[in-house]
Parts: sequence; structure tokens; C-alpha cells
Amino acid sequence: MTAQAYHDGLNRPPPGGRPRAYKTDGLVLRAYRMRGAHPPPPRPGGPPRAYKTDGLVLRAYRMRDADRLVTVLTPSLGKLKLTVRGARRLTSKLGGHLDVLNRTHLAIAIGHTFDVVTGAESAESFAEVKADLSRLAEALYLMELADLLMPEAAPHPAAYHLLLNALRALAAGRNPASVARHTELGLLGDTGYMPELHSCIMCRREIEPERHRYVAALGGVVCDKCPAPASSVLPLSVDSLKVLRHFAERGVAEASQVALSGAVRDELETALGASVRYVLERELHTAGFVERVEHLRERGA
Ligand SMILES: [Zn+2]
Repeated sequence: MTAQAYHDGLNRPPPGGRPRAYKTDGLVLRAYRMRGAHPPPPRPGGPPRAYKTDGLVLRAYRMRDADRLVTVLTPSLGKLKLTVRGARRLTSKLGGHLDVLNRTHLAIAIGHTFDVVTGAESAESFAEVKADLSRLAEALYLMELADLLMPEAAPHPAAYHLLLNALRALAAGRNPASVARHTELGLLGDTGYMPELHSCIMCRREIEPERHRYVAALGGVVCDKCPAPASSVLPLSVDSLKVLRHFAERGVAEASQVALSGAVRDELETALGASVRYVLERELHTAGFVERVEHLRERGA
């Protein structure tokens, strides 16, 4: 029987009953993985059914039962979403190793919807960061930022090392605001959103001292001759611009040695915060938390 005959049969059952099968051409528009659809058995030379990697735990979500979903940033596999079965049970052997901020050795099995953590051993838990509210607030902000900026399963080794070095710098007692702004700028750069810091984003002329503004929506500095929408113009002093340029070129160890005045710290936080909001088109949950901690610290000081 031809395909055409089968098509006719779809609407008009042929004598002898409805057709049980038909043929047609088709353009494949989309593919979905399904629950219960068993993955094919392993083939020699085929993709592995399990793998191991290090990962920084960016975020953890509660799931049904006692399960948890975590997002981790890995050195070579990018951001992964993983299920941790029974993680919220007191007896869980995995749960404690998968707290947010931990660097953890992971054993992972390929799953249907999400891959599944089968083994976890914390390698660095950054207790010094978790015990200090200012450091914790900045660290959680950076984790959320990385989680939102990084696409899934696309390698971003620079972002991984940037975050890991930031956590180590915070644990070593480096200035939390410097570490956070340096890492924030680095994460923007790694995902293709590095703000322009040297020449006017509109006319391309080199920026002269004191003759510039910062416009997050345009992607960096604008000279004072070019028009920019007044509502989106942020002030950026020469000192703040110098610090940003320094951050863009240096690692966190050097960057966090820069002593930021209160004014510079506020300007950098506002300017980079505006860039982050522009890129992500949303507020970060932890941004308000950082602000409240800062406020408390200043009142207590
Ligand atoms: Zn210009």
C-alpha cells in the first residue's frame, strides 16, 4: 500500500477496518526527552553513562519528597542541573556536601530529565565565608549571578576559576566589596557583556578625564558630547573608572588590594548593578540582601 493510500485511510477507514499505521514525510521541529523512555543501552565507544567532575554549588532548590535540585558550575562542563535524591533527609550522605558555596567532588549518573548525583565529597566548604555576614552576602550574590548568567552545559572554565578564586579571596579575608565587584565584572566579561571602559560607546573617541558618564543600557562609558538618555545616565568618577579598568586587567588577588573609598564603592556597585540588571532583565534576589547587610554593618560601625 502506498503512503497516499494510508493518508486517505486516516479520515476514511478502508473496508476491513481502520488502518493501524500510516506513513508521511515530516520536518522535525523539536525533540523532548521523556520520563520512562529508557535510554539506549551503553555501546562500546558510545557516550558514558556516568561521569565525575568538580563543581561549585551555585544554588539549591527543594523538590518533591526529600529530593533537592542543585545547579553547579564545573571547570569543563559548564553549568549543570542535578538531582540529589533524599538530600533533605537527616540520614543523607550527600546533602551536607552539596551546600551552596561548596566545591565538591561529584559522581554523576546520566538521568532522564536531570542527571543524578550518586556520590559527593566536599573539597572546600568556605566556612570562613559562611560565618561572616558581609562575606556571605557577597558570595551568595556572586553565586546567584553566575547561576543566572551561565547557560547550561556550555563550558565556561574562566567563570569557574573566577568564582573559585573569589570564594578563596573572601575566605582569606580580602575586602568583600572589591572581590565582589571584580568578580561581577569578570562574569559579565566572560559571558560577552564586558562594559566598554576606554572609548565612548557612541562616537568611539577615547574618554578624557572627567568627561564621561556610564550608561548600562548602551554597554559602558559615553563621552560628554554624545547624547545619552538622561534617565539611564550614571555618574562614574575618574577614580571609579580607574578601578574598573584595573579590575578588568588583574586577578582577584591584585584587585582586592585596592582600597575603595565609600564613594567609589557605591558608584561601582550602582554602575555594575545596572549592567547586571540590564543584561538579565531582572533583579537578583540576593542584591537586596547585600544592601541590607551593608546598611546594618554601617549602623553598627
Ligand atoms: Zn562620544
